[in-house]
Amino acid sequence: MTTKAMLQFVSRDKEMPAKRGAEARRQDFREIYDDFNDEKAAAQAGRCSQCGVPFCQTHCPLQNNIPDWLMLTAEGRMQEAYEISAATNTFPEICGRICPQDRLCEGNCVIEKGFESVTIGAVERHITETAFENGWVKPPQPMSERGESIGIIGAGPAGLSAAEQLRRQGYQITIYDRYDRVGGLLIYGIPGFKLEKEVVARREALLREGGIEFVLNCHIGSDISFDEIKKKHDAVLIATGVYKARQIDLAGQTETDDQMVAALDFLTASNRRGLGDTVAEYESGQLNVKGKNIVVIGGGDTAMDCVRTAIRQDAKSVSCVYRRDRANMPGSAREVMNAEEEGVAFEWLSQPTGLSRDKNGKVNGVICQRSRLGAADASGRQRPEPITDSEYTLDADMVIMALGFDPEDMPNMFHEPRLKVSRWGTIGIDWRSMMTSVDGVFAAGDIVRGASLVVWGIRDGRDAATHIDEWLTRQAAEKADASIQQAQHAGI
Ligand code: FAD
Ligand code: SF4
Ligand code: SF4
Repeated sequence: MTTKAMLQFVSRDKEMPAKRGAEARRQDFREIYDDFNDEKAAAQAGRCSQCGVPFCQTHCPLQNNIPDWLMLTAEGRMQEAYEISAATNTFPEICGRICPQDRLCEGNCVIEKGFESVTIGAVERHITETAFENGWVKPPQPMSERGESIGIIGAGPAGLSAAEQLRRQGYQITIYDRYDRVGGLLIYGIPGFKLEKEVVARREALLREGGIEFVLNCHIGSDISFDEIKKKHDAVLIATGVYKARQIDLAGQTETDDQMVAALDFLTASNRRGLGDTVAEYESGQLNVKGKNIVVIGGGDTAMDCVRTAIRQDAKSVSCVYRRDRANMPGSAREVMNAEEEGVAFEWLSQPTGLSRDKNGKVNGVICQRSRLGAADASGRQRPEPITDSEYTLDADMVIMALGFDPEDMPNMFHEPRLKVSRWGTIGIDWRSMMTSVDGVFAAGDIVRGASLVVWGIRDGRDAATHIDEWLTRQAAEKADASIQQAQHAGI
């Protein structure tokens, strides 16, 4: 039943948590939004109208029970709100910070336009931050131990959420990762101004405390063979993400142009520096944008992270070139707005075609051609069409390419020809069991979906955990049946 605390959207405006001013944000890599306090969270949660059919929930990949935890927050019942929130989401404080809510839960909140949606993400974050402050967030604690061991390849959101859930069920979990830190793209892709690294490290500590083992700096396929991992564990989950940067062909580009940089190389270097590492390519100037004119090509969230990182590294100018218009940009509208506030110049409806060079042959500009939106293509999106005689040049000392990612060379990375892949190179699974074409080997996250979102990685990891548990339980039952039959046969 809806209480007095709810349905306040008519009289109370939507408010986001306080956002730091653009000038202050440009100086560091700290998150830009504050956490709500209890009072603000309760007031904003109370704007929810407690829909009978909550579209916010339907459009949340985790099907979070949003109306219930909003009501509990509005009533100040924070521990119950946390328990309901944590029941469906392994890392709610992370999703609350970095889900593109304007495309998911909040974008589908039915409160009429003009009143504006409920601030769901910020409330979700506040609930879990309150839980951390009060010691309600516990490491995974199994009721009883199980003997079976599970090897997980990849310590990103998909691998970690599967690990957490399987450990709760008592399995012995080892996570392998080729990086030296836990978190996948949460650590080395997403910049600190969206997600501070301490937030990820806090979860890592809980997982370790719960008994999950990590083997880092370990590339499966070269340091340890995939076959060895399979032999060592009763089940294996592949959650290796997608890392092969898509390329663009620009006239005049050569393979030796070290001013052409892949987005993830740039972001990883920046994140490593923030974590205190010395990065040779930054020190040498190759990945250091200070005082340079920077052009970022692409219109997704990775491009937004690159432009905003370049601003914080004190670039002379930062432009983002995208071939469609603002309305058709794949990146979150909120991130575009934040980038604009911080001083990024957007070149909408503009297609890079070539590079210009100075008299020494160094790249000094990107040649672009204006475009207009034409007829829709098969995907329903309007196709950009070049406008003749509209070329112009943007100054560029460094060009960052943020055009998306494809899977690395699977199944060759694992030397496992039985592992079936799709025509896009992603690992094929049976969606009813999340098992690959190799018995006992499951897969989840971006390596199955292609480049996606953290919240989908968490969802897939949780689903994979459920299927692995079912499969191992079935295997154990079959083994037990077989030994009973053997014993009966032997007349024992
Ligand atoms: P990953 O996070 O990529 O983790 C895979 C792990 O597997 C890595 O740690 C890798 O080192 C390891 N690995 C790979 N191969 C091997 C091997 N052979 N042996 C051992 N280990 C291996 N999503 C959002 O929801 N919000 C955002 O704001 C957002 N911003 C993003 C910004 C950037 C720059 C990028 C690149 C992505 C962003 N995403 C965002 C997408 C999101 O990060 C991914 O969808 C998500 O991390 C996928 O999770 P995953 O666990 O499948 O893979
Ligand atoms: Fe919204 Fe993401 Fe939270 Fe779901 S997990 S409620 S989509 S912020
Ligand atoms: Fe509340 Fe909006 Fe969800 Fe309806 S759609 S339950 S108003 S948050």
